[in-house]
Amino acid sequence: MYISTRGETDPIGFRDAVMTGLAPDGGLMIPARIPVVKDRMAAWTDLSYRELAFEVFSLFTDLSPEDLHALVHESYIGFRHPEVTPLVRAGPIRILELFHGPTLAFKDIALQFLGNLFEHILEERDQRLNILGATSGDTGSAAICSVRGRSRIRIFMMHPHGRVAPLQERQMTTVLEGNVYNLAIDGTFDDCQRIMKETFEDLTFKDQHALGSVNSINWARVLAQIVYYIHAALKTRKSENADRVRLAVPTGNFGDILAGWYAMQMGAPISRLVLASNENDILSRFFNSGIYRSGGVIKTISPSMDIQVASNFERYLYYRVGEDAGRLRNLMDEFKDSKSISVGSGDDESDDPSIVAGVGTTDQTMAAIRDNYEKYGYILDPHTAVGVHVSNSFLSESEPMICLATAHPAKFPDAIREATGETVTHDLLEGILEAPVRSVTMPNDAKAVRDHIDAHAG
Ligand SMILES: *Cc1c(COP(=O)(O)O)cnc(C)c1O
Repeated sequence: MYISTRGETDPIGFRDAVMTGLAPDGGLMIPARIPVVKDRMAAWTDLSYRELAFEVFSLFTDLSPEDLHALVHESYIGFRHPEVTPLVRAGPIRILELFHGPTLAFKDIALQFLGNLFEHILEERDQRLNILGATSGDTGSAAICSVRGRSRIRIFMMHPHGRVAPLQERQMTTVLEGNVYNLAIDGTFDDCQRIMKETFEDLTFKDQHALGSVNSINWARVLAQIVYYIHAALKTRKSENADRVRLAVPTGNFGDILAGWYAMQMGAPISRLVLASNENDILSRFFNSGIYRSGGVIKTISPSMDIQVASNFERYLYYRVGEDAGRLRNLMDEFKDSKSISVGSGDDESDDPSIVAGVGTTDQTMAAIRDNYEKYGYILDPHTAVGVHVSNSFLSESEPMICLATAHPAKFPDAIREATGETVTHDLLEGILEAPVRSVTMPNDAKAVRDHIDAHAG
């Protein structure tokens, strides 16, 4: 069963949790209990990615084994690497390549699964779905790619006008299928997220249009990502003969690293998660000071991390305040009013040693790209480079460090050229800048977005 972080929604099953996106009380859906499976880790060590995905998903869903096998197969067949998420060595660290999916970012891992899962549930129920999403780049293209052409689904994807990297924008707007609507909002990514939240909070509108979410507020996104944390930790523990590993995670919305946190609670051999921020460092400040305070968004070379309000942080905070939904509600209200909350100074909320954090500035990020290229011949994308830079402060003799590579460098050719002099390309991006596009520009206004959905929803 699934419950809401705000405690005012009746428990629901996995399918409903996936379909509802944001809980009706404004909270996020989480499993009522986290399964602890420490004793299965040894037996899971030699499983393939797909086999492990099946085992992990089985713990959190009530789909039949046949359906689950089919979903896992369909979701990861399109990945260009047989291991789905291979590990590569670069000097003292291991890089966990999460970018072998169709849009070259880690979000494909969860969104390919979610697209198939939506379709499966909609077929079962003979229903239709309208997806409303907000993206700073990679979510949009991965989500659009996962549902393009599906007859039961329409997708309305908002992105901040002119603030998405050109290739990332084209990966969305060059998709011309009739069920795909790209909305370029005159605002920041946080504005897009706010419009999305406001629209979901209008429960009449949400019900009327069967509105669903592909953003990481959707539990299935977090679930799919748990797999690679366990997979990488188990493979590395074995190959390095280590007890436990550390993982460094370039972070924006706290969706990716939250999956790592769940993997830890489940009993994966992970001692520490290293949270890496760019100059938009609200999360890194929180883990170093206990104060969560949002400022203005700064545009960087790692745009998918240019976020000041991390929607998934609420799930983590729920556990951090001892699973006290009332306390969490008060904190979220306080944050809404004052844009600042403080946690961790009380007696029962000791600091969480499982997450450490740091910042990689633009200069440090560029230096990390250059260094890794010169020393190890490996080219990091700018997001991954933030993680690699921050991981350097948390290396250990006994525990291997794994850095999550969240995007293929070919998505960010300008930064790579500046740092290394090299031009990285990928055949999936060829010709994309010349291809025809379709998108609508819209004011920074929830009503305009609602009107557009009204006019075009399925
Ligand atoms: C989305 C994204 C991130 C941040 O992931 P969160 O789940 O938002 O923390 C980092 N790197 C890339 C390339 C991304 O697309």
